[in-house]
Amino acid sequence: MEENIEITAGLEIHQQIGSKKLFCRCKAQLKEDNPDAIIRRRIRLAASELGEFDKAALEVFKKKYYFVYQYFKDVCCLVELDEEPPHSCDIEALKTALEVSLLINAKIPDILYVMRKTVIDGSNVSGFQRTMLVSIGGNLKLKNGKEVQIQSLALEEDAARLIAKDETKKEIIYNLDRLGIPLIELSTTPCLKTPTEVKEAALAIGELLRITCKARRGLGTIRQDLNISIKGGARVEIKGVQELELIDEYVRKEVLRQKNLIEIKKILEQRKLSKEELDEEPLNINELMKECKCNFIKEAVQNKKFVYAKKFAKMRDIFGKEIQPNRRFGTEIVSYLKAKTNIKGFIHSDEDLKKYKFEDDEIRKIKEKLRINEEDAFVIIVGNEEDCLDALRVITERCKQAIEGVPEETRNALEDGNSEYSRPLPGAARMYPETDIPPILIDKELLEEIKRNLPKTADERFEIYTKKYGLSEKLANEMKLNNYARFFEEMVEDGVEAKTLAVFLLEWITQLKRENLDVDKIDEIFIKDVIDVYMKGIVTRDNLLDFIRYCLISNEPVKEAAIKFKKDTISIKEVENKIEEIVKTNRELIKDKKEYAFSALMGDVMKELKGKIQAKILSEILRRKIAEEIELIEKS
Ligand SMILES: [Zn+2]
Repeated sequence: MEENIEITAGLEIHQQIGSKKLFCRCKAQLKEDNPDAIIRRRIRLAASELGEFDKAALEVFKKKYYFVYQYFKDVCCLVELDEEPPHSCDIEALKTALEVSLLINAKIPDILYVMRKTVIDGSNVSGFQRTMLVSIGGNLKLKNGKEVQIQSLALEEDAARLIAKDETKKEIIYNLDRLGIPLIELSTTPCLKTPTEVKEAALAIGELLRITCKARRGLGTIRQDLNISIKGGARVEIKGVQELELIDEYVRKEVLRQKNLIEIKKILEQRKLSKEELDEEPLNINELMKECKCNFIKEAVQNKKFVYAKKFAKMRDIFGKEIQPNRRFGTEIVSYLKAKTNIKGFIHSDEDLKKYKFEDDEIRKIKEKLRINEEDAFVIIVGNEEDCLDALRVITERCKQAIEGVPEETRNALEDGNSEYSRPLPGAARMYPETDIPPILIDKELLEEIKRNLPKTADERFEIYTKKYGLSEKLANEMKLNNYARFFEEMVEDGVEAKTLAVFLLEWITQLKRENLDVDKIDEIFIKDVIDVYMKGIVTRDNLLDFIRYCLISNEPVKEAAIKFKKDTISIKEVENKIEEIVKTNRELIKDKKEYAFSALMGDVMKELKGKIQAKILSEILRRKIAEEIELIEKS
């Protein structure tokens, strides 16, 4: 049904790529533990050369927050802190951006310019984000044959990660780990016409980015923004949709919201409501509320706070009108209050006021005092005087917008497919040249080389993996969009057994990770060496996984580990089982001595296993098992 509504939609997809940051050589990796340093800053607001501030920026700035940054020395340096100029652009990230541009037949200029885009929500320490336009135009075919037009492709830095907002301390806390990770920003033109089409385009773009094998994986590594308007509605940007599969749901729910706002507009038109009629003065009703049974109002009055009421002429049944599933116009207004004021909620006359324990007589008196007629509504706000008046101004402003219909704005995607107001639509991005980085000349030869080695599509891969390499459909499906796909193809073309390699890459690495082994050691060189040992027949297929474990635990170069591995007469799995047994029978000792139980237990371990395997392996495993046991004890 909703497929018949005329919609105009476009997508902006942000995908993290690569393993290093864009303008410094820090690792692109997220950190959760204790930061090495905490840095507190306040941003200075600089007017643009036109002497005006961006509306969206100003709204955040007006709330006067401090910005607190968590710094991790493993993944941050002085560049993130804006204490050192940026280094040159990461060539791998640039190559990937060029590769995607070629895949969509976009136009790549001869010279790329790095620009600074003003960002004042604190998510960039410097107050700007570095971005460069890599290509313009291009297109992408959907499965149904429709061509999606691409507007532009940019390579930019990701922002710091929002951790928390502390309203009482007026602090916004960011983690710097994500700041500077390369992002490809790919925007379509507003050429999408149905919710399903939006979803298909999002999936196709997701696949396009993943066939490069450079797209980062995991939660938050891909984020899409959605631009939508319906006929008679307005352009709305929904930010931060993380789940590609749900994107059509966001479109449908936004269409519904705009439809309902248009309907509210019509109702208010019929009631002939003018903006001036909403300018009624708010009234203080503390006196009236002295005996109120409602707890939070009673408390407020006792604590010398204020209770304000305001009439909203001809607005009856509007605050209570559902505009998205389980979301009323009143709920919508709450998101404006949260974004713009210190007030987090309000009471309105479309609600059942009895649930707040208001008595009939009190309601009657409020209505009398406000001169409420049949078609009118009223609102009650509790808080400091200034905050109350501020909130009433925001509510009034939003109701005035309702007379006009759908306001243009930026919204945050909510988990249930709805969205809430976050800020006004940003003005045209204010960009300034990044004077610390010289323009980047695109080398024709580099471009030719990328062109010669463009990745295969997912469908082509599936075909080759099943037919030529003999993989099962299941393995082929998993491998075709895996970041190891191109490496896998290279190795197999070099004569490596496809199935063993696929199982190693797709199943064993996950399994070893579950066993708490340090799988970060498994890079392409490690894999090549292990496969080499296997192909030479030093290790058989049956004990290949065990050999990989052995390499990870002994921490020795693969070739040396292979020689020692041959000498050992027992498998790692057996060793692990034995040690686990010893740890379990000594649970009480571990409870008591924690990691100091190690030396006592090592004696037991040596008694059982000495000479069967290197002592170094034994101590590594014992240490790990004790740590796991301590964790279990602490949890219980
Ligand atoms: Zn850095």
